Amino acid sequence: MPDYKNCTITRFPEPVLSKPAQPIEKIDDAIRQLAERMKEIMVETQGVGLAGPQAGVNLQIFVASPDGTKENAKVYINPKIEPDGPMKSVEEGCLSLPGIWGKITRYTRCTVHALDLDGKPFTETAEGILARIFQHEYDHLQGMMIKDRMSIPAKLRARKKLKQLQDDYDEKNPSSQ
Ligand SMILES: [Zn+2]
Repeated sequence: MPDYKNCTITRFPEPVLSKPAQPIEKIDDAIRQLAERMKEIMVETQGVGLAGPQAGVNLQIFVASPDGTKENAKVYINPKIEPDGPMKSVEEGCLSLPGIWGKITRYTRCTVHALDLDGKPFTETAEGILARIFQHEYDHLQGMMIKDRMSIPAKLRARKKLKQLQDDYDEKNPSSQ
């Protein structure tokens, strides 16, 4: 059984963040432990959502909590989303891109089809912040981040910060160069 209890937050340019995540074949105690650890990381880093790759795990799972509390954090396994409604541009950040903010255009409504921790399928429709979290976390499962969705000027503004994150990573992982 893989041990997920010591997972930590991953940051750009950790390779797991830019790869599509794999579907979860079996929901067992290891996956339940992973979900628990992901909720903890989300609360520790003061986020409102966290996707598997952000815990260093290449699996299709995310947690979301519109108020950032562990009690209200819900788990979504192998999610599929159907965004809907008008689009809106709102400033977003990402736990894996510290210091980077940009206006991201997303749908204002979103339906998610997923499995819960007992493997039961469920459907949930959300608006506002939760709809935005669903789309943000689903992006992570496709290997996509806000830096890939920002406007050209926002990308230019983020360039220095991205370079700094890259340098920090290279320093900690000398063999990856
Ligand atoms: Zn993110």
